[in-house]
Amino acid sequence: LVIGVLAETHPGERRLSVVPDVVKKYQGLGARVVMQKGAGLPAHFRDADFAEVALVERADEVCAEADVVFCVQPPAPATLAALKPGSVLLGLLQPWASAERARQLAEGQVTAFALELLPRISRAQSMDALSSQGAVAGYECALIAADHSPKFFPMLTYAAGTIRPAKVLVIGAGVAGLQAIATARRIGAMVEAYDVRPETREQVESLGAKFIDTGVAAAGSGGYARELTDEEKAKQAERLARAVAQCDALITTAALPGRPAPRIIGADMIARMKPGAVVVDMAADTGGNVEGTVAGDKVWINDVLVIGPTHIPSRMPVHASEMLAKNLFNFISPFIRDGALALDWEDEVISGSCLTHAGEIRHPGVKQALG
Ligand code: NAD
Repeated sequence: LVIGVLAETHPGERRLSVVPDVVKKYQGLGARVVMQKGAGLPAHFRDADFAEVALVERADEVCAEADVVFCVQPPAPATLAALKPGSVLLGLLQPWASAERARQLAEGQVTAFALELLPRISRAQSMDALSSQGAVAGYECALIAADHSPKFFPMLTYAAGTIRPAKVLVIGAGVAGLQAIATARRIGAMVEAYDVRPETREQVESLGAKFIDTGVAAAGSGGYARELTDEEKAKQAERLARAVAQCDALITTAALPGRPAPRIIGADMIARMKPGAVVVDMAADTGGNVEGTVAGDKVWINDVLVIGPTHIPSRMPVHASEMLAKNLFNFISPFIRDGALALDWEDEVISGSCLTHAGEIRHPGVKQALG
């Protein structure tokens, strides 16, 4: 079995789909590893760190040899065209983003697995790249907020008095939001949080934060939230407005699978925020939770700084790559035996994560969404 590792080409992407220790594990399972030269450099891994890996110059050379190809982001169309029919592509493939890409993979007879489609069952937690990368992003967003705030996050006692801790509001208490809460708490802020899924209350409180109850509950299928009705959105906005107006930093992490991020914070709410308040909109890449966010930029709205960071896990590529590489290994390694790949299509992790196989788009939700 030949495993191929592509260098990432998306601007701003610094993660790698393998790390040296994980490469050793594949080799231990009898696989040979082919990697593009310098692929690890943006994540601070040198070619010399990868023992016994065959290094090639170009992506198409990786594809020409590999039976299983790893990537972080979807490869460029020319690279997809170079994949061998019957080969496996595995990574964060943004399955909902491009019908053309899905068709190209299907027509190329590539078996593509998108980790965004992984069923969120207990058994699959160790493979869950959305969770691992969400945790990285949540941590980073809390640090970005602290870094841009004109105030201390912790309470600070000094010779002339005491400075009160900053108030941080986190909206969306999924994996990323919980990590943002935990990080802001560790830096000493007072934290409030809100999510439409009522079960998050306990998790929020266990981190020492206060849960804001808006009376809107919207648990959808698969452990995710559903989209709110207009009436629910109005009720939510009314209850959140006060907390937004009182906070020093607002971190928004709300997302809906495969759909644009819900717009939760309107311009009217931003207008009522304190001067010098900071907003970090983690959902900037998918449309933003905040009106006025510019993805990849910082904008002042009156005296409030609204930050729309993109490629957030790439801000700490060493650990983000390590976590992602382990997720990918845990996904595929149970099916590598005696140096060969034998996928079990009865396994719901395999069938549920499959984007394309045998010339077809396999995932029913994606197939329907892409039309
Ligand atoms: P996500 O990134 O899709 O969404 C982030 C959060 O935004 C979610 O908590 C969601 O409820 C919230 N949200 C959506 N619309 C909102 C709105 N209008 N207002 C406020 N909040 C809103 O979610 P995620 O963090 O990837 O995880 C979603 C769920 O899946 C969580 O319950 C998580 O614990 C669960 N999960 C299970 C497993 C597993 O068992 N394998 C793994 C990871 C996550």
